[in-house]
Amino acid sequence: MSHIRPPQREGTVTVIRREPLTAHLLRLHFHAPDLAGLELPYTAHALRLWFGEPTPQDKSHRRIFTLRRFDAATATLALDFLLHDDGLASRWAGAAQPGDTLVASGPRSGLQWPPEARWLLAVVDESALPALACVIESLPAQRIVHAVVRTRHAAEQAYLHRLHRQPGHDQVPAAAEDAGAWPQLVLHPIVAAPDDDHAAHALGTVLAHNSWPAQAGLAFIAGESNWVNTARSAVESHAALGALQVHASAYWKQGQAGHAHG
Ligand SMILES: Cc1cc2nc3c(=O)[nH]c(=O)nc-3n(C[C@H](O)[C@H](O)[C@H](O)COP(=O)(O)OP(=O)(O)OC[C@H]3O[C@@H](n4cnc5c(N)ncnc54)[C@H](O)[C@@H]3O)c2cc1C
Repeated sequence: MSHIRPPQREGTVTVIRREPLTAHLLRLHFHAPDLAGLELPYTAHALRLWFGEPTPQDKSHRRIFTLRRFDAATATLALDFLLHDDGLASRWAGAAQPGDTLVASGPRSGLQWPPEARWLLAVVDESALPALACVIESLPAQRIVHAVVRTRHAAEQAYLHRLHRQPGHDQVPAAAEDAGAWPQLVLHPIVAAPDDDHAAHALGTVLAHNSWPAQAGLAFIAGESNWVNTARSAVESHAALGALQVHASAYWKQGQAGHAHG
């Protein structure tokens, strides 16, 4: 994982299309001519978006979203929004129509696959599904991905079925759960709220009842803050996962607006 920050750009992005992905995940396509020169050296870079007038003093209207797709040739990009119960960004996205605009800046530092890593253990919730999809699409050949995906509703588990290889990489079958699909993606779905004890218990069961590769690997843990802490402790204390380099990131915090806005 890299923390190198590429050169920053800022500008207005304009909604051109809505594309519902699952019951609660909505893709918005934007025209982004001001970001045309964006350099994205790694994967799962994110943008900062202002859901209100940008001001240097008050960042309470700023939120972070993963740059799910970026096409420099057409100056278009796509962001996948979780439509949750309440929130500035969620409400805006749910109502957004072609022609609506936001001010965006970035990119934030992305994720870099360590060359020595042979496999990935991902523990995410809905908010980090776009980042996980970016990581999977950019994986080198022959990597195994175990994805523990906690969602409130079962419908969001279908999100990872829509993976596509980026130019220069081999093709991933559209149905990621296909037997023998490449890269080998093993989904471990958990349907529970983040603060539901069942989620932690289910994660413990997944860790205890699977055999894990002995080679060096990477753990990507992202989502709700408490869930990330729980998952990180569980992964780090699981003896069979000693060879994993852990990258953990709190994407949001239950009951707190704009938790990660920087
Ligand atoms: C690097 C990074 C990448 C991210 N990428 C994405 C992405 O691609 N797609 C995406 O949807 N989110 C993503 N997030 C998470 C997103 O920034 C937060 O969920 C953000 O708080 C949403 O803003 P909001 O205005 O909708 O809600 P806020 O105003 O921030 O919060 C209002 C209320 O909603 C709750 N809430 C916030 N987020 C969620 C959630 N995900 N689920 C349930 N309740 C929530 C809060 O706890 C609070 O009670 C990313 C975060 C980071 C740091």
